[in-house]
Amino acid sequence: MAITAGAFLPTPSFTFTPPLRCIAGVRPFRTSGFRLDVERPAGPAGKVIVHNYGHGGAGISLSWGCASKVRGLVRDNLSPSGPNAVAVLGSGVMGLTAATLLRGMGLPITIYTEHPWTCTTSAVAGGQWAPSIVNYADRGQLKEVLEISHAAFKASIGNGFGVSERPNYTTAPAEALELVRRVCPGLIARRELSRLPFEHHAVRGFEYQTLLIEPPTFLKRLNDDLAGAGVPVVIRSFARLTDVLQLQENIIVNCTGMGAKNIFNDWDMQGRKGQLALLPAQPRLQYLYSKKGYMFPRADAVVIGGSDEKVFASPAADPIFCQKLVDHMKGVLGGGPPVPLPRGHIHYPDNLPDLAPREVLTG
Ligand SMILES: Cc1cc2nc3c(=O)[nH]c(=O)nc-3n(C[C@H](O)[C@H](O)[C@H](O)COP(=O)(O)OP(=O)(O)OC[C@H]3O[C@@H](n4cnc5c(N)ncnc54)[C@H](O)[C@@H]3O)c2cc1C
Repeated sequence: MAITAGAFLPTPSFTFTPPLRCIAGVRPFRTSGFRLDVERPAGPAGKVIVHNYGHGGAGISLSWGCASKVRGLVRDNLSPSGPNAVAVLGSGVMGLTAATLLRGMGLPITIYTEHPWTCTTSAVAGGQWAPSIVNYADRGQLKEVLEISHAAFKASIGNGFGVSERPNYTTAPAEALELVRRVCPGLIARRELSRLPFEHHAVRGFEYQTLLIEPPTFLKRLNDDLAGAGVPVVIRSFARLTDVLQLQENIIVNCTGMGAKNIFNDWDMQGRKGQLALLPAQPRLQYLYSKKGYMFPRADAVVIGGSDEKVFASPAADPIFCQKLVDHMKGVLGGGPPVPLPRGHIHYPDNLPDLAPREVLTG
């Protein structure tokens, strides 16, 4: 594609009034793959636990597909003698989407959660539709989940869920989006560009058609719809399985993210910290950029991210780290001096390996 001066996409503004807004979360990464299955625990008869956790850096992206699978697992495990009632544990994206689809089955549902949705990891997410930093054990299941999720998000565009179709520019194949292209051929388009459409970033690259899901809008909408339908949210913390089994509901849908590590003794759960700098919103920006570090322009903020920290002393955001993320992006897109990313940045390999199930994906 030939780019002429004037055909450049708008350059983000990196000038803003300090202090920089900076947030962090711990991605619920599970080394053996995200968990979507049924357990019949020993103890009180007739209790069924449907697990839905461990989605790492891809929970927003996989949410509707996993919720659809949860609905199927619940349907297959209803007690024929009844009555059936559902406890959804967690009010992050996994809990809220599962509760939304389960509500359609006409069963009584209660959400139990330590924190309201505003204080979950889901509320920290950047919001690109891309299965990044996630392992999976079953390629067929991943394909189904990706296809259902993508279709559901696309169908919600323009309906107040904070979802839009956006191009994402990269200088090398984006690992997570390449995974989608291999597992679900034809789902997302990619164009190769001889020059990216940026004034200060004159290099070859790629344009992917992906989705931007704005977590503050999406989660609020899910929560409001559930509240409007009379689904109660009970603030309650569970320390261990025995606490969970004391619930009166016979069907328990476990969407506790990192919480599953202690409640269910799942030592495959390894948190991966991510930090985001939030610049003031810039509505003229309509594209995503990702390479080493990413930029997602949302209605509430321009999100600058790109950290994936396996070892961290604190889950809290570090303003110095976030400033470096911004300085790096300014060096890439804003014509500023080149600034290396801080330790812990996401590494995008230029040559993609032949990816196999259970691999760790970064993106
Ligand atoms: C910086 C960053 C950027 C990200 N960007 C993206 C992105 O662009 N796209 C994408 O798809 N994903 C992204 N993610 C990943 C995404 O945020 C997670 O995969 C997703 O939030 C997981 O959702 P969840 O509902 O499983 O967990 P959570 O949102 O953590 O929710 C867990 C729920 O369980 C409750 N809970 C936990 N323990 C207990 C307990 N003991 N008792 C009672 N309740 C409990 C919590 O209070 C909470 O309500 C990002 C994550 C981070 C940190």
